[in-house]
Amino acid sequence: MLRRLFAFNGGVKPPTHKSSSTRAAIATLPLPPELVIPLHQSIGGTPRPLVRAGQHVLKGQLIGAADGNISAAIHASTSGRVVAVEARVMAHASGLSTLCVVIAPDGEDAWVECRPVPWRSLPGDQVRDLLRDAGIVGLGGAVFPSHLKLKPGPGSRGSSKGGLRHLVINGAECEPFITCDDMQMREQANAILAGATIMGELLGAEEILVGIEDNKPEAVAAMQAASGRLGERGGRIQIVAVPTRYPAGGAKQLIRVLTGIEVPHGERSTDYGVQCFNTGTVFAIHEALEKGRPLLSRIVTVAGNVERPGNYEVLFGTPMDYVVARAGPKPDTDRFIMGGPMMGYAMPSRQVPVVKATNCILVGSPALFPPPAPEMPCIRCGECAKACPADLQPFEMYWHSRAKSFGKAQEYHLFDCIECGCCTYVCPSHIPLVDYFRFAKSEIWAREREKDSADAARDRYEFRQHREEREKEERAARLAAKAAATKARIGIDPSAGGADTDDQALIAAAIRRTQSATTDLPPAGESGT
Ligand code: SF4
Ligand code: SF4
Repeated sequence: MLRRLFAFNGGVKPPTHKSSSTRAAIATLPLPPELVIPLHQSIGGTPRPLVRAGQHVLKGQLIGAADGNISAAIHASTSGRVVAVEARVMAHASGLSTLCVVIAPDGEDAWVECRPVPWRSLPGDQVRDLLRDAGIVGLGGAVFPSHLKLKPGPGSRGSSKGGLRHLVINGAECEPFITCDDMQMREQANAILAGATIMGELLGAEEILVGIEDNKPEAVAAMQAASGRLGERGGRIQIVAVPTRYPAGGAKQLIRVLTGIEVPHGERSTDYGVQCFNTGTVFAIHEALEKGRPLLSRIVTVAGNVERPGNYEVLFGTPMDYVVARAGPKPDTDRFIMGGPMMGYAMPSRQVPVVKATNCILVGSPALFPPPAPEMPCIRCGECAKACPADLQPFEMYWHSRAKSFGKAQEYHLFDCIECGCCTYVCPSHIPLVDYFRFAKSEIWAREREKDSADAARDRYEFRQHREEREKEERAARLAAKAAATKARIGIDPSAGGADTDDQALIAAAIRRTQSATTDLPPAGESGT
């Protein structure tokens, strides 16, 4: 049955550069000499380290416990010895460091015991906790903890069952060069769809829509064949080829294309009865629930300036240069970009580790990515607004971000910008608009963090003052009680007299005690010594 599709506004059609990395099957890598596993690999709190240097760990062992509910656990990617728990440079354009568990593999790759989860008989909250503790996060690039998205929204409008109307599985993979989802759909379609049916049950979804750009006919065919093999269980699933147009893989854009639902600025798709997950995430959820295996690795595309572009199953913590070495980097390589050319970031070092967000290592060279043309003044042509798939006004956000009027930039929905780069791509003045938006967002976050830490410092100060007052009062009460007890012991009415009378009575009592002690002493010379 052909499904009616809808168009999203804006978007661009850059060259896809996908064919070269889809010629060979997904390859596995030998164990690297060292794994550097950052504890912070998702949106939310940084997991607490659970291991120390010198400790032996097994593959799949929990090494970082989720910090609250908005967080996801971290596990050892292989067995070996923890050689350090220390700050290392993270896979981020900032070049900042983050706390990492460094493991020297023992070569055994020995697993902890893994058991399938009886998810059907467990309460939903328990299943979500298990997924948090299995470290499952969105693998499409956002690394948002998946358990938080697996809760049916109470406001799921239009659902006859109180659950979701549409569960959207995102296999669009619209960014140039990146083919990891394409290859995974070709090779692991059964597990992806089995995972999708589990999620459909957890969310009470009426239908499951798998959206794949029509430039991936092999993936579409593989997923359709797998859907057929599911028999009745696959009845709710539709595999839909969607037009190739960047960024069709944006969650709101794919939801729009498949369902016609327009999720307004600042609202959540679950309020409209839709939830969206990447195909890699769905596979990871299947592994976690059906095999009891936490998330330890992912498929990474290596493309660009290499002899053998391809896809590799890579353990988290593997240094990027170790992965790229397998693909044969060309001598004029000058950078590694994590992600694609539209949304990716140049890495601060070639040794940074592969993390949950690493869908692609795009190897750059001056010939492949020449320096950008000089930035010119904005001519207010409006091309950026026409290309924006989020219906924003990028030139307005640019003016305010550039002027550091961040409040104004927010009024133009800065945080609805998905950083797709369409505006930058079309700007005739070569203004790196996305860089301005990322700068504005990071400044706003930094100010909020500063405000939060100032608020926390004030709260700490007030709490300390309150505690000191309370301790002072308690100390005074203890002394008063002690004095009253002493008076009672020596026969003074604690309620009688003021301070002078009390002191005199205490002195008299002390004299009496001294006199009686003197009377009890043996006469001189009768001592036993
Ligand atoms: S495309 Fe560039 S020049 Fe045109 S309005 Fe947008 S920012 Fe200005
Ligand atoms: S980067 Fe942001 S502002 Fe620019 S086109 Fe994409 S969503 Fe719109």
